Amino acid sequence: MDSGKTSRHIDSNTALYGVVGRPLAHTLGPRMHNAAFAAMGLNALYLAFETRDIAGAVTGARALNLQGLSVTLPYKTSVMELLDQVDEMARKIGAVNTIARRGDLLVGFNTDAHGVLKALETCLDPGALRGMPCLIVGAGGAARALGFTLAREEATLAVSNRSRERGERLAKELGCPFLAEQEAWEFGADLLVNATPVGMNPLADTCPVPDHVLRKGLVVMDLVYNPRDTLLLQKARARGCRTVSGLDMFIFQGAEQFRLWTGLEPPLEVMKTAVLEAIKS
Ligand code: NAP
Repeated sequence: MDSGKTSRHIDSNTALYGVVGRPLAHTLGPRMHNAAFAAMGLNALYLAFETRDIAGAVTGARALNLQGLSVTLPYKTSVMELLDQVDEMARKIGAVNTIARRGDLLVGFNTDAHGVLKALETCLDPGALRGMPCLIVGAGGAARALGFTLAREEATLAVSNRSRERGERLAKELGCPFLAEQEAWEFGADLLVNATPVGMNPLADTCPVPDHVLRKGLVVMDLVYNPRDTLLLQKARARGCRTVSGLDMFIFQGAEQFRLWTGLEPPLEVMKTAVLEAIKS
């Protein structure tokens, strides 16, 4: 299967997409989306646009008729006021990770919410989240996407975070308790999600929760996807937990971007293969 490495015909009709953010040296988006475009036979190209000027980048996207953009750190919030419309879930979350062109308008979406739910569905039965005690560790952008998604599924939430202020703010918006560390570990969660960079390079040898929290039967999701098999996921598996990988979320959120941009069913397996190859290389 074409993993996006083969050269393609580029001409005056090529539709241009990309990712804006900084830094982008390790972004997986170009490999994932170009593989999808190639597999679907689309005359489209996805590039990395590292920028210090998000307002200029959006103006450029309008002027040059870009068809869609992924938005990553540090611009997921600041980009919102530069767009013509922002969909309701993205507004609630307070972050846009996808821009799609709708006629002359640039519209903002957040596909992390979709990605996290689809990833959880690889492990949980439909409807299982309703009433399920879920502990969110972290209160940044990813935790917000996760929190509003789990709230929509009527999960019973609690938030824990390093800095109390940010954690309490998110908990208030979600209508759930903020729990400081010790209380959080005693919450009795059936689903625990790490939404911090603890476990990601260069913190790859650290784990965001103490071992005793990882009891048999608990579902543990790590939003970190580099490395793919984090220390948290390794420990959780060894202690009999069921695990959900951040890489699945990354691929599902990318697939939803593809759907928003093209209106087509995304080639999930192609996208996954391209990302796995990129991580290996
Ligand atoms: P963010 O907005 O910067 O938030 C980071 C959160 O982690 C904050 O709550 C912060 O706490 C906490 N944190 C940071 N360093 C910490 C440390 N050393 N110890 C304890 N807590 C710490 O980042 P984000 O966008 O939410 O991303 C969080 C993670 O999710 C990243 O690893 C990112 O790669 C991952 N992510 C994955 C996907 C996916 O598709 N799988 C999508 C989005 C994000 P304070 O409030 O105290 O600063």
